[in-house]
Amino acid sequence: MKAMTLNREESKSSRRTFLAAWMAAGGVSIVGVPGVAGADPGHGNDSPPLAQKPSRELERILREVDQKRIEATVRKLVSFGTRHTLSVQDDPARGIGAARDWIFAEMSTYAADSGGRLTVELQSYVQEPDGGRIPVPTKITNVVATLRGTVAPDRVYVITGHYDSRVTDVMNATADAPGADDDASGVAVVMEAARVLAKHGSAATVIFAPVAGEEQGLYGSAHLAQVLQDAGADVQAMFTNDIVGSSTADDGTRDPRTIRLFTEGVPTDETPAEGNIRRAVGGENDSPARQLGRFVRDVADNDATGMGVRVIYRRDRYLRGGDHISFLERGFPAARFTEPNENYAHQHQDVRVENGVQFGDLIEFCDFAFMARVCKVNVATLWSAANAPGTPKNVKILTAALTNNTDLKWDRGTEPDLAGYEVVWRETTAPEWTHAIPVGDVTTVSVDMSKDNVFFGVRAVDKAGRRSPVAFPVPQS
Ligand SMILES: [Zn+2]
Repeated sequence: MKAMTLNREESKSSRRTFLAAWMAAGGVSIVGVPGVAGADPGHGNDSPPLAQKPSRELERILREVDQKRIEATVRKLVSFGTRHTLSVQDDPARGIGAARDWIFAEMSTYAADSGGRLTVELQSYVQEPDGGRIPVPTKITNVVATLRGTVAPDRVYVITGHYDSRVTDVMNATADAPGADDDASGVAVVMEAARVLAKHGSAATVIFAPVAGEEQGLYGSAHLAQVLQDAGADVQAMFTNDIVGSSTADDGTRDPRTIRLFTEGVPTDETPAEGNIRRAVGGENDSPARQLGRFVRDVADNDATGMGVRVIYRRDRYLRGGDHISFLERGFPAARFTEPNENYAHQHQDVRVENGVQFGDLIEFCDFAFMARVCKVNVATLWSAANAPGTPKNVKILTAALTNNTDLKWDRGTEPDLAGYEVVWRETTAPEWTHAIPVGDVTTVSVDMSKDNVFFGVRAVDKAGRRSPVAFPVPQS
């Protein structure tokens, strides 16, 4: 096992360089706050310090995202009248069953064009009455399209949108519930990402899953996550696209080039023992979900997607939830994409006009160019993660000896094109990683900086320069 020691002056001078640049920039920046002078109208934030420029190949793939197909999908989904989870399942024209069958048939055409790379299945189970939003035994069906990895098929990335819909009364399964934004938009994004990526293949496995039962209690996503957990799947990232169809706020202002990404801090599945470690070494801001948020900023907040990613340090919107929580509860890193400003007149509402105001989740309020950019953010993220090496595993900071160095170790990945590793670090108060130190193809390193004063992480690099998401170390005595 090779090891290396970094020269104290090298690390100190890189830190001085960073601080000088930070101070020259004024030491403060106003980020993406609508209506605040100095905010960047094009992006949710400034470019991240460790941005990864998209390759030519990725730029070509992103140009294949077709806004017209996304629009056609949303129109088709809205045409089923309601997609309520308790609605009729055997009518060919109306209800969630018709929507399910159409999504399956449409994604099967992507599979047929994929040279065998993509397969599609209906994943069903019967949810028994829960004393709440499921009053009778109800078949819940996810449409699961799997793009099997060519190099690392056991490493899995997942994106979902939910195809069920609702109106004001969450138990009303018969009223028109168009659900154009919530969440035909997310389903359309997931389906278009599947269509585009299926033509190119992927080193790791990617699952594209329109799920059901979200509005009744995250049932479809919970089933999908449980099936993956029971199979021992190595899910390294999951993203739900939920309410990603409009760029217009309720006051009419538009923010067409920002998508929010909600990432939790303290992990939902943290054990008491892990909590004790976190209180002793920090890490409230370094959950796997936060590392995903930073990764998405690095690879997808750029001109190739045309979108700024505004990462929000919160699990979901205030007191609210979504399908990523099903994955977080089972220990999988997960996050939620949502439009920049929600309009509550257009979600979970009966379709009606009141005092001259149109209520309802209608297609006329959708912005299909915006959805296409959201799809590009998803494609850039999945392509970058699935073709880079996996996130390093078993990353530790060794603490047996009291020292002002920081001694790190991790397991070597098995990817054939693995080139080595980088130690990343930042000030404890910085939101994003600011420095990357290439350390070569090693599994231990001693960095001449104190673990007391900064945060460290480790990421893998392949021969093409693609970087994995960062793993945050835990102490090992
Ligand atoms: Zn939703």
